Formats: sequence, C-alpha cells, structure tokens
Amino acid sequence: MSPDHLGLVAEVIVVGGGTAGTAAAIAAAREGRDVLLVEEGNALGGVSTSGGVNEWYASLEGLGDIFDEVRDTMRAGGAKFGRFFNGEYLKIIWQLMAQRAGVRILLNTMMVGAEAAGGRVRAVRLASCGNVFEARGAMFIDASGEGDLAAAAGAEFMKGHPQTGRTLHMTLTFCLADTGRPVAPFLPPDFEPITDEAGLPGLISHNRTPDRRVYCNMTKVMGHDPTDPLSLSAAELEARRQLVCVVHFLQSTKYPTHTLVSSGAKIGIREGRRILGETLLTEEDIGHGVAPVDFAHGVAVATCQIDFHSLTKPGHAGWRKRVEPYAIPYGCLVPRGFQNLLVAGKCISVDQVVHSSCRMTPTCCGLGQAAGTAAALVIAVGCDDLRALDVARLRERLVARKVELDPRRHKAFAPEVTEDATRGA
Ligand SMILES: Cc1cc2nc3c(=O)[nH]c(=O)nc-3n(C[C@H](O)[C@H](O)[C@H](O)COP(=O)(O)OP(=O)(O)OC[C@H]3O[C@@H](n4cnc5c(N)ncnc54)[C@H](O)[C@@H]3O)c2cc1C
Repeated sequence: MSPDHLGLVAEVIVVGGGTAGTAAAIAAAREGRDVLLVEEGNALGGVSTSGGVNEWYASLEGLGDIFDEVRDTMRAGGAKFGRFFNGEYLKIIWQLMAQRAGVRILLNTMMVGAEAAGGRVRAVRLASCGNVFEARGAMFIDASGEGDLAAAAGAEFMKGHPQTGRTLHMTLTFCLADTGRPVAPFLPPDFEPITDEAGLPGLISHNRTPDRRVYCNMTKVMGHDPTDPLSLSAAELEARRQLVCVVHFLQSTKYPTHTLVSSGAKIGIREGRRILGETLLTEEDIGHGVAPVDFAHGVAVATCQIDFHSLTKPGHAGWRKRVEPYAIPYGCLVPRGFQNLLVAGKCISVDQVVHSSCRMTPTCCGLGQAAGTAAALVIAVGCDDLRALDVARLRERLVARKVELDPRRHKAFAPEVTEDATRGA
C-alpha cells in the first residue's frame, strides 16, 4: 500500500493522541499547518481518557487556550468535578477540538518504526488493519508517552533510576458504581483476599464522584519495563490480578453495594523513556524552593509538587516535596542532535525526580501546545532546523495563546499531606 494512496503526507506528523499529542496537533493546525495525528487507541486523550486516569493534579490556570477550552467545556458540560472529571466526555471534547482545527486523525494505528538519518526523520512506519505503510512529514512530534518515535529514530534516552533503571510503578485504574443493594464480593478461587489496608498493593485512593462512580487509582505493579513487550504484558496480567483483590477488599469494607464497571483500556504507565534533549532539566534546577531566575527559554510551566512513589516498596511509600512553579526550557523538547523532531508530554528531557512533577496531565497539555506551536513556526519561517528556532518568538506566540510563561505568576500545587493525601499520581 503506498502512502500516496492513503494521502499520508503532512507538514507535521504527531505520534500519540494523548493529552500532549492532541494539544500539539491542535496548536500546529491552529497555526495553519497540515497535521496528521496518529493514535494507536480508538479515542484521543491517552492515559487521561482510555487509560482511566480521571484527575488533573496540577494548577489548572495559565496553561494556554487549549487547556482552558478543555477545562471550561468539561465544566460547562457537568463533566468536571474539582480536579476529577469524566474521561468519556473528555474523549469527545478532544476529538471535536482537533477536528475543528482541521487535524487529520488516524486512530487504531500504531507507529512501528521510523526512517531517519543525520538527525532528520523522513517518515514513520505505521500499522493498522493488517497493513504496514508509511507517512512522510516535514516536522515530527513524538507524544507517544514512552518516546517510541524518538527511540526508533535513534535518539538517546534515559529510563528509570540512574543506578537501578527502575521506573515509577504502573497502575491499572478502575471505577466502581453503586448498584443500590448489597453485592456479593467477588474473588476468583485460589486468590488470597486482602484483609486490611496495610495489605493493599499501592495508593489508598478511592474517590466518589458526583456521577455516582468511585474512581480508584489503586494497583501498584513495580519492577516491570513499559518499553519491553513481554514485561509490559506481564505487568498488565499482574495488575488485573491485583485489581480483583482490591475490588474484593473495597466491596467487603467501604463499598458493600458497589460493583466493578470499568478499568483502563491499558495499564497506566507513569514513566517510560525520557528522551535526552538539547537541555536536561534536573532536580538541582527545580528543587530549591525558589523559581529558577532564568526562564528566558521556558515554553511551559510546571506547578506540581514532586510526587515520587517508592520504586521498590508496596503501598503508599515514597516522598513528596513542594516545589515552586518552574519553567521548562524549549531544549527539553528537542531531542539532542535532531533537526525536525520534538518530544512532548511525559517523555521530555528531565531527570527522574523532575519527571515525577512535570508528568502531570495539565503540564503535558502545555508541553503539547508548545511543541505544536514550535513545529508550526519553523515551517512558517521556512526553516528546517528546530534548533534554530527563535525561542523569543515562540514565547510570544504562546503568550498570545494565553500561556502564562512567567513561573512567578503561577501557583504551586502541593496539596497538604493529610489523611486525604494518600491520593497521588
Ligand atoms: C496510574 C496513573 C495515575 C496518574 N495520576 C495522575 C493524576 O492524578 N493527575 C495528573 O495530572 N496526572 C496523573 N498521571 C500522569 C498523567 O496522567 C500522564 O503523565 C499524562 O497524562 C501523560 O500524557 P501524555 O500525552 O504525555 O501521554 P499519554 O497520555 O500516555 O499519551 C500517549 C498516547 O500515545 C499513544 N501511543 C503510544 N505509543 C504509540 C505508538 N507507537 N503509535 C501510536 N500511538 C502511540 C497512546 O495510545 C496514547 O494515547 C497519572 C499517570 C498514571 C499512569
């Protein structure tokens, strides 16, 4: 099958239709570019929709007109409840925004390879419906969460803890719904019941939402590699075994009238590859309780506390630390040595500790808007090297799109550690 037959040539190709990728695609399309958005799932929104993670854990202000529109449309539609939301509505909101911007959306399509040489990506190889075909572009944005495109193109990357290589744990989120009458707690034969909270594998995070669900962020699968096919599959199987035990515990204790109604379409991956960029943002840069003074190259602002889950201990082990809002420099989005490839979302160039703060969904939206705008701008000025982009000009465009780039004008997001703060990302 030829790409021409499918019309798969675009100015900007975005791989991954999660929060960052969809925001990037919308931003580039709104700047007048022809954009192809490739997503392996059947809806947009990624972890925050299909992945079942229905909570925004960062300040929700000053992230740009794309996040503002998502947030306000969700609120107006009764689908946002404080920081929580209904991910089913978020799928259609992202889709409509992308379609209205003119983004060409290719669902159920996985990127399985890239053709790249000399720091330039020429094409991505895609697979769908039993076909493998390619799409050619001028600029590429990797918003796959795990940095699949950048890795396939040969970019350098970091993964997990610098010494052990361990990544943050994975979680299969799920929802319960109230049946209105007592239910018989379900546990398959030979499964060991959990008898007290201390036996729960991960966070004790179950939240009632006004749409009568209980949103649960509660399993914890450690020691698996989300970029290794066998390890990822083993993680899914382990997560579902944990899930049924956790639900049984909840039905036997707090929620005797509730039943399981949904779980993430894919296990939630907190951390995969982090692509090494022209700039690497480290704990040293953000961890001193004051906003870095030099934010002249900032193209997004992160506000969330460091939310570092233990890499080895079950339960709610780990540490949290308030950080002042900080700028994420443009260079964190530019894979080192590449001219026409950007990364956006949780796979940007930061160390593991910074990642545990800037990986939150609202921040990923801001990163996506920055990447899409950058890709559009270089095309507009007839430049073919993203490294030569005038960052001041990019910042001007972003500010015009309601992105507040001065970290001092943002509020730090660091919920008090109280009983309720067993919830976490
Ligand atoms: C369990 C869990 C709980 C969390 N809790 C919170 C929370 O409470 N609040 C908060 O703000 N954040 C939370 N986070 C973090 C946050 O949800 C994510 O970091 C963020 O949503 C990532 O956005 P993204 O766009 O970078 O990636 P994703 O949402 O992962 O999007 C990547 C997209 O790329 C697609 N894709 C991947 N590979 C390919 C490929 N090869 N070809 C085509 N498509 C591909 C995927 O299907 C996906 O749609 C949580 C994360 C997890 C896992």
